[in-house]
Amino acid sequence: MSTILPVAQRGESILRLTAAKVAQTELNSEWLKQLAEAMYATMLERNGVGIAAPQIYVSKRVIIVASRPNPRYPDAPEMDALVMVNPEILEKSELTVLGEEGCLSVPDERGQVARAQTIQLRYLTLEGVTVETTLTGFPARIVQHEVDHLDGVLFIERIG
Ligand code: ZN
Repeated sequence: MSTILPVAQRGESILRLTAAKVAQTELNSEWLKQLAEAMYATMLERNGVGIAAPQIYVSKRVIIVASRPNPRYPDAPEMDALVMVNPEILEKSELTVLGEEGCLSVPDERGQVARAQTIQLRYLTLEGVTVETTLTGFPARIVQHEVDHLDGVLFIERIG
């Protein structure tokens, strides 16, 4: 059983920080695995499709992306949850799309946010293997939202 943790809420300083990179020595460690498990359990319990470590008060560059079809994004692909360590967006398409977003840290608000439709991305797995991939549509939106959390930015700052 993984621990479900409290989620930091808008206004709390942890959400304003630039999160630290996960160090080489932390890769493939029990603590990193437990962090990812706690993030995953907390995300599922709140019906989220993504989460970033600062949302559970750990200022480290770890995110989970877990796209699945939902009423707002009926065409969203169902994918296995992906844990991304030190994710870097290498390239964003010029084409942006508007889409509705919410956030576990801002439970009372939703809004239309413009995001790049397609991104090229590099991240490490929990074991430290480098992955490069291209994501489009809803999963690309989730990554951009979660990487923003690592840089201290909330989606409500991207509205209007
Ligand atoms: Zn969020």
